[in-house]
Amino acid sequence: MNFDTKLLHGKSVKPYADGATLPPVSQVSAFQFESAEKHAAVFSHKAMGYAYTRVGNPTVSAFEQRINELEGGGGAAACSSGMAAVALSLLNMLSSGDEIIACSGLYGGTIGLFDDFKNFGIRTRFVKELTPETIEPLINEKTRVIYGEVIGNPGLDVMDIQSVAETAHAHGLPLVVDNTTATPYLVNLISLGADIVVHSSSKYINGGGNSISGVIVDSTHFRWDEKRYPALAPFKRYGPMAYLVRIRTDLGENLGCCLAPANAYMNIVGMETMGLRMERICSNAQKLAEALEKLPGISRVCYPGLEEHPCRSIVEKQFRGRGGGILTFRAGSKEKAFRILDALKCVVIASNIGDLRTLAIHPSSTIFIHNTEEQKEAAGVFEDTVRVSVGIENPEDLIEDFTQAVKQADQ
Ligand SMILES: *Cc1c(COP(=O)(O)O)cnc(C)c1O
Repeated sequence: MNFDTKLLHGKSVKPYADGATLPPVSQVSAFQFESAEKHAAVFSHKAMGYAYTRVGNPTVSAFEQRINELEGGGGAAACSSGMAAVALSLLNMLSSGDEIIACSGLYGGTIGLFDDFKNFGIRTRFVKELTPETIEPLINEKTRVIYGEVIGNPGLDVMDIQSVAETAHAHGLPLVVDNTTATPYLVNLISLGADIVVHSSSKYINGGGNSISGVIVDSTHFRWDEKRYPALAPFKRYGPMAYLVRIRTDLGENLGCCLAPANAYMNIVGMETMGLRMERICSNAQKLAEALEKLPGISRVCYPGLEEHPCRSIVEKQFRGRGGGILTFRAGSKEKAFRILDALKCVVIASNIGDLRTLAIHPSSTIFIHNTEEQKEAAGVFEDTVRVSVGIENPEDLIEDFTQAVKQADQ
């Protein structure tokens, strides 16, 4: 089954109770039981069932099953936000003293989180780009995971998943990849060797910009060595499911970063149109990037779909040439970047990505405000960088809007 069809007719897209095509929103905190014995059986994991929404909820499970099928995983766990998913995906395997190897072109919140991890004795070694050549020299006896974003936000470097996965596996390390910006529409990361895929499903999965959420998908391919990953040792008897079982019955449950059932429902409704949206978004972004390149008054248009993008060969191989929905350009100065943003008529100034609407932002003064100058530069965020998250409007209107805004900013 192809992607668009799977969104509507996949195995995980069940007819629900009474033949409903979408699951009911089980907007409850707790589930009642007919006997204390059955209640106890669910709590001791001897029987399947839902008892309390922080631990499990049928609407949330329906969302998890759909995203898991799209990513080709062995199971998924939804979270209250993308940041919760990133944090839980790593804390679930790491212990104090461990090291992460990550690329520096990460989402600002994730860079901040890795700073926070220092207080728990978890250190991150950053490389500009994740490649076998950059990773190898940094791997030591403390390294426990390789972490990257398939398309860095907002640096827009594209990672070659297969070669990085091979290097990670050669050293007995799992590869965790944030697939928020590429989405399963552009690439299936698990088939290329990623072990854990995380998403901010607030973005392209939800698609309408109406709910914050995140999700972790486990390939269940990685074999967790109990000595190197002692936090997972008590779950050894679950074999390849150990990582997910720890999230479900221990760390995820105890951190309490559960997804609200109503938001899970909004994600399910939204993701059914993901194929159609991504097709339009990628095509719009390609046209807008090509038009912006010809526009006098701005420079260094960066978009993975452009011929001269440094990762063009990976884009061809990994995404079949499609460049995703994000582009950036340099305005020349912070003041001019602000003037362009203020002059836009239909493009909205907002910090989100993956909305139906085209959104624009000055990252340095907003989403990277808490990062150091060094971190900003390493992430490809300069004083005059403008990031655009392309939506589904008519592409000619978008080109016209940027053209008039740049012209006005120059006056
Ligand atoms: C937005 C985003 C996050 C964080 O997600 P939230 O849902 O806002 O918590 C993480 N990674 C990437 C690449 C993002 O774009």
